[in-house]
Amino acid sequence: MGAEAHLGTGQADRDECWCCGRPTARDALVRLGSHPEVGICVNCVRFLGRRARDRQATVVRQQLRGAAESIRRKVMARGWPSHPVTGPALRWINRHSPW
Ligand SMILES: [Zn+2]
Repeated sequence: MGAEAHLGTGQADRDECWCCGRPTARDALVRLGSHPEVGICVNCVRFLGRRARDRQATVVRQQLRGAAESIRRKVMARGWPSHPVTGPALRWINRHSPW
């Protein structure tokens, strides 16, 4: 996106961002691969990238929580929390685990 994209352009050279609706130079919009009629401005592309990273982080967090619960069930089934050596360490881990 260069400044020349905004200079000397009439309405014919402009299109609206499909995300925010802001009029933008047509050649400054990012086009979707399978739907080139959809153009998104750079600000919205960055916004969508942040949302995608947030979504990905949520999926990873859920996977980690599931793995931690699986390990917790196995530890409880073996009775390790009641053992005098492993019990205090496992309780400390359980208190400080984010999952
Ligand atoms: Zn936009």
